[in-house]
Amino acid sequence: MGDRSKPSVLIAGSANADFVVRAARIPAAGETMLGGDLAIFPGGKGANQAVAAARAGGIATRMVAALGDDDLARLIATSLTSAGVELDVRCSSRSTGAALITVSDEGENAITVAPGANADLGPDDLPDLDGVSWLVMQLETPLDTVLAFARAARDRGIKVLLNAAPARALPAALLAAVDLLVVNEDELGTLVDTEGSIAERLARTGVATTVVTLGGRGACARIGEDYVLQPAFAVTPVDTTAAGDTFCGVLAAGLADGLDVPAALARAAAAGALATTKAGAQSSIPARAELNAFIATAHQHGQDDLAAYCGLGPAAN
Ligand code: ADP
Repeated sequence: MGDRSKPSVLIAGSANADFVVRAARIPAAGETMLGGDLAIFPGGKGANQAVAAARAGGIATRMVAALGDDDLARLIATSLTSAGVELDVRCSSRSTGAALITVSDEGENAITVAPGANADLGPDDLPDLDGVSWLVMQLETPLDTVLAFARAARDRGIKVLLNAAPARALPAALLAAVDLLVVNEDELGTLVDTEGSIAERLARTGVATTVVTLGGRGACARIGEDYVLQPAFAVTPVDTTAAGDTFCGVLAAGLADGLDVPAALARAAAAGALATTKAGAQSSIPARAELNAFIATAHQHGQDDLAAYCGLGPAAN
């Protein structure tokens, strides 16, 4: 039992074992390719975000997840607890969730998820919320659970960060219970299915603060009526798996630690960039000291290209 007097982030979401194979490129439909050796890593959007928040430090990190009774569950639990996450397990009779991942030599990935136990995280499984300042969720667990948890947190005055991934349309009732929405460009396109620039679509999500992550370009946030541009940090990516999860976990940790959105965005973007420089999911997530050292020395791309890409023009922000 952790220290309930300290502000904490609670991640409610998925935990998977990632079965990863490198290949020259992502195979097309119907195609079989020979790849490299199989590697099995602890992953899942929820667990990755929990590890990212815990490694970012400054706050306590808790996670609730549904796991099977198998070796994959032990792999996941060990990774979470050794990162400093206080883990609350809901036991499921299904297999622990698994993801089949192909990573290309260009660092792109293609992922198929078998949810398994994650599908058993139910609306009644929310743990006590004492000391929780931010609840962080994704969409790899059942939608009715995400909605029930978001409403319960909202009722208690706890802030809700929803990473609306994987991409899907969402009910207005859920968006109404969310304080901060984080999506990538595809997910934004699914949520706001209209023509228009990124900036215009950010204004139509139904959530007052929305962040879109844009890979090697960086990220853009709409906070009320204002936009904040966060250009990417310059790195040479080898594997983009978990960049978005690292971004979300570090963003939540920063906000829970008292940073404002622009300052938390900068740390999140730096952590996301670092995560692309190593293979794997949780193994690629930086620790606080590494993140601080990187921020002190790293080069950030300029804002003009990002502003133009988002439809904000070079003079925005
Ligand atoms: P997702 O994996 O969910 O699609 P992104 O690819 O947008 O998420 O990555 C999340 C964040 O990580 C980006 O907003 C950016 O800050 C950082 N990032 C990702 N790829 C790169 C890259 N190639 N160079 C620098 N930063 C990156």
